[in-house]
Amino acid sequence: MSEKTIFKRIIDGEIPAKIIYDDELCLAFHDVNPQAPVHVLVIPKREIRSIATATDDDVALLGHLLKVVRVVAGQLGLEQGYRVVTNIGADGGQSVDHLHLHVLGGRPLQWPPG
Ligand code: AMP
Repeated sequence: MSEKTIFKRIIDGEIPAKIIYDDELCLAFHDVNPQAPVHVLVIPKREIRSIATATDDDVALLGHLLKVVRVVAGQLGLEQGYRVVTNIGADGGQSVDHLHLHVLGGRPLQWPPG
């Protein structure tokens, strides 16, 4: 069996995280290496590697993750706007193989990303 990802270990309570939202389907917590004044991650509790491996059965869950993005953005006061990013695979810059949505805000963000 493959090793647990760091995010699965957070879901299982094995390592700490600054959790700001928790329900039966997902968790949101602060990124340990923030790239903006606000940088949180929204992750499903179900183990899905990335959008590329999500299935039709995950459609409602993916919609729920976006709803939770809206909820946490409200909690964090991102009225000026924010960015939602999900990195996929090597070229996408994905480093943790458990689907996660980055929510970045609190400063103007450049476009395009590197
Ligand atoms: P990605 O490169 O898109 O896979 O993003 C993974 C993100 O997880 C990075 O922004 C890391 O800083 C973040 N990260 C890694 N380990 C932890 C952790 N233990 N708690 C919170 N965030 C983490």
